[in-house]
Amino acid sequence: MGLIRNIAIVSLTISFITFVAFFGRLPALRNTPIGALNRVLWVHTPRGLQAVDARLTNGRTSALVVRLANHLWNDRHPIVMIFFILLLSVSEIMIVPQAWPELSTSYKAISTVLIILPYVFLYASAASDPGYISPENHSQHLSLYPYDFTIYHPGQPCRTCRLLKPARSKHCSICKRCISKMDHHCIFINNCVGYQNQHWFLLLLFATATVISYAVFIGSTFLSTMVKSNIPRWNILGKGFTWSEHVYILGWALQERTRMGAVTLLCALTAPLVWGLLGYHTYLVWAGTTTNESMKWSDWQAEMCDGFVFKRSLPKDRRKDPRNEPEWTSWPVESEQVVLRTDDGLPPAENFGMGEWVRVWKLTNIENLYDLGFKDNLKDVFWRRPRES
Ligand SMILES: [Zn+2]
Ligand SMILES: [Zn+2]
Repeated sequence: MGLIRNIAIVSLTISFITFVAFFGRLPALRNTPIGALNRVLWVHTPRGLQAVDARLTNGRTSALVVRLANHLWNDRHPIVMIFFILLLSVSEIMIVPQAWPELSTSYKAISTVLIILPYVFLYASAASDPGYISPENHSQHLSLYPYDFTIYHPGQPCRTCRLLKPARSKHCSICKRCISKMDHHCIFINNCVGYQNQHWFLLLLFATATVISYAVFIGSTFLSTMVKSNIPRWNILGKGFTWSEHVYILGWALQERTRMGAVTLLCALTAPLVWGLLGYHTYLVWAGTTTNESMKWSDWQAEMCDGFVFKRSLPKDRRKDPRNEPEWTSWPVESEQVVLRTDDGLPPAENFGMGEWVRVWKLTNIENLYDLGFKDNLKDVFWRRPRES
């Protein structure tokens, strides 16, 4: 029981810390205990350690750690991806040889496909061009999406690449390039998630979540079959047994087949995390937004609450300045609004657009140009739209 309990505690702790570290900064969790723990992890703990180090080694250790962390955090490196591949492969090596002889032919076929797919999608996500913007393809990326005159306004160059930023693009400080429809830089694939590989990333999440859940199914089936051969009236929910008897029997089963038990438990504990991540990215597609934009929308909401945001109409037949924005985009709609924020809470002095400036209090009062409805948003991710050549 001791070994199993330790595996459970370690896996739960790692899953929880990973969740806090990566999700704690999301706008939805910013004002929750998870957000507070995220700040403890990323802000208060490093500060505390730095203060201790300043006394002990005159700050030399923290300078070294900061340099190393800077490299790990700001440059591309495959360490996390290698860890992910190892975790996947070692778990499979621990469980597959034991289970294989007892699987039927159809289960063997399903298992083979489910085991291979995460590697295929990981390779595709990591090795593909996420949509790097270069002088050669700049006009193609400009013509993907129109400016929404809310988050993205024409005529803004990237300070590093010196190219006009296409709508929905963002400069990635880790890839050191501008990325078309930038979602986020993902350390698990050591690459950005952008216009050209977002579909691979979603498939990777789906395949990983599926294979983990499948491992839980196979593992628990094997373990419960083994228990039933010893205690025929036993069932996985423990009906007819007291709680302590049930836990004892489960613990015994996990000890008897330690490797399978450990992997099943690890998968059961990490599955909600991967499904959660897939759910979040599906939600982003549903809402017609990206991780990067959802943060910006959250900032807009805060400014709207303060009454600093105004909108007015854009004429449909407005003349576009070809030096700043493309004449044509492959997106089916154009912005009919311009939304601006001011520092003083007074309507903007800008003469762009027409009609009265109306103060906006809620996000629902403005249009998200990039939301065409779930089906079409999904199409935009999975079926590339034709580009103007
Ligand atoms: Zn750039
Ligand atoms: Zn990147």
